[in-house]
Amino acid sequence: MNSLKEVAGRVVVCTDCPLSKTRTNSVPGEGPANAQIMFIGEGPGSNEDKQGRPFVGAAGKFLESLLGSVGISREEVFISNVVKCRPPNNRDPLPLETDACRKYLDKQIELIDPKLIVTLGRYATSRFIPGQTISASRGRLRNVNGLNVYPIYHPAAALHNGGFRRVIEDDFKKIPELLNASANMPLQSESNVDQQLSMFSEDSKNVQ
Ligand code: URA
Ligand code: SF4
Repeated sequence: MNSLKEVAGRVVVCTDCPLSKTRTNSVPGEGPANAQIMFIGEGPGSNEDKQGRPFVGAAGKFLESLLGSVGISREEVFISNVVKCRPPNNRDPLPLETDACRKYLDKQIELIDPKLIVTLGRYATSRFIPGQTISASRGRLRNVNGLNVYPIYHPAAALHNGGFRRVIEDDFKKIPELLNASANMPLQSESNVDQQLSMFSEDSKNVQ
């Protein structure tokens, strides 16, 4: 798989896990190959399964308005999910399914090489930062094996909870400055990155 198009082509016909039997459409993810930011959700919901596109329901509308609030359009970011086919009744994906699907998201990250990966919610965050609650990890930028990972609440959870909503709005406001910091940061030295990022971590602790 040497291009995003090729990844998507494979995902559309993939039968590597049992979710292929219950899906209507796979949802490879979408956005430009030179995107600076990737947003990663858990897996397609029912609207996404029907349309074959990520974040097209109510959570997607909210994500778009959050992007708009910081002057970013949906078309300039890459939007994807940990699993590319809808788990029945929106249950959490099973380890067998995530393991089988891992190669696709890994390849998308490698090809896009984003400055910033924003993980949406507990499940997507646990793929990069295992063993921490989302309320502990949200709003803090981390360097994970050379990737700049910034966890925030899932827009679907924040949509109907006033407290979460204010938090996700505040966490979103930091994205432009994090992007600037990541863009100016040499990634070859991890300790260097951690040092520079610690100022943002300290900053974000104050909002929790
Ligand atoms: N929720 C997700 O995690 N992903 C989608 O694509 C839509 C809703
Ligand atoms: Fe293939 Fe991933 Fe869909 Fe499973 S969820 S069938 S591994 S694309």
